[in-house]
Amino acid sequence: MIPRRKTRQVMVGGVAIGGGAPVCVQSMTSTYTHDIGATVRQIRQLAEAGCDIVRLAVPEKRDTQALPAILEQSPVPIVADVHFHFERALESVEAGVHKIRLNPGNIKDRKKVDRVIAACRERGIPIRVGVNEGSVVERRDKALRDLQRQSLDTDYRAGLVRLMVSVLEDYLRVFEENDFHDVVISAKSIDASMVIDAYRAISERFDYPLHLGVTHAGPPETGRIRSIAALGSLLSLGVGDTIRISYAADPIYEVEDGKELLCSLGLRNRVEPELIACPTCGRIEIDLIKLVAEVRQKLSAIKTPVKVAVMGCVVNGPGEAEGADVAVFAGKGRGIIYVQGEQTRTVNESEMLDALFEECVAFADRVERGEAVLSNSRVNIVPPDPLPRKDGSMPLKVVSR
Ligand code: SF4
Repeated sequence: MIPRRKTRQVMVGGVAIGGGAPVCVQSMTSTYTHDIGATVRQIRQLAEAGCDIVRLAVPEKRDTQALPAILEQSPVPIVADVHFHFERALESVEAGVHKIRLNPGNIKDRKKVDRVIAACRERGIPIRVGVNEGSVVERRDKALRDLQRQSLDTDYRAGLVRLMVSVLEDYLRVFEENDFHDVVISAKSIDASMVIDAYRAISERFDYPLHLGVTHAGPPETGRIRSIAALGSLLSLGVGDTIRISYAADPIYEVEDGKELLCSLGLRNRVEPELIACPTCGRIEIDLIKLVAEVRQKLSAIKTPVKVAVMGCVVNGPGEAEGADVAVFAGKGRGIIYVQGEQTRTVNESEMLDALFEECVAFADRVERGEAVLSNSRVNIVPPDPLPRKDGSMPLKVVSR
């Protein structure tokens, strides 16, 4: 278990953030919030995929007007994302959202921020206060910008982190002067190493729960690497109470990858099958990459965290699949299936997908009935004994069930 850094706890609807609560996964809808049908559909898809909290943009009054209907139908707590218009924050609070994301930097009038804080206090709603690398450098006030640039010129990266912490300090002072501590904080950047430095710095400076994220990470193909590098590093240090992986894509990928990251670090229990697959090499004798894709798709129908291995050979496959509940080891035209270390059948390549899936379903059913327990990596798989062909190659022996 990774020891977690102690933070205060805030409640977002029924979901706890910080204070030792499990790290939760957030995402954001990509619909127009005023399109109630489309927004509720996407919230439900995200919740079904394992998202704990969903954020919605509310740039216009018609968006906040849609909130009561959305909240009534949402299975998870909802956060209103407010930029520039403090009225949207007040309307969102009035509608009953569970949290507000506010950037005090783009609501210049202090009195307006005070009014949002007062409204949130009255309803017991937390506020996320964040800084982004792109928004901390002053753009309007030239004298201040020049001053910031001078300090950044000495050591840009360290200077920018210092600036992010200091701007966040200024923002938080407004909340502290209001004696409002129901706050979650963030300090995002597009650069993974900057995200790591910034969050390490704010985690040392403040005890508010941390919302981790890499901003504008790009499409999953590129954004995945920088997001996992940054968030995985921080989580492995015990830093972070809630995460949002953000992609320029369907937000369902944000949830899938966020969950997988937490499961991989042992910060969340798996509730669905885990797939292990060999990376393939010169020993491969079937189209394993196609088989893995098909198995992955089929496994989505199983709701038990069975560990499944799809391996390309009997040479190294058994060792690498150690701990799998159900495993197939493929050879030329055939595959041997094991269930918790016991060889159950040998099948031809054309039957491999269906046979493996049948074994997975049967095993999951036995687990659900209490007749079997998940391996939790404690299964030994003894390699099968292939019989040599005349030409010296090693086919698999066919055995009946
Ligand atoms: S399991 Fe076999 S085929 Fe797959 S990568 Fe390992 S050695 Fe190669």
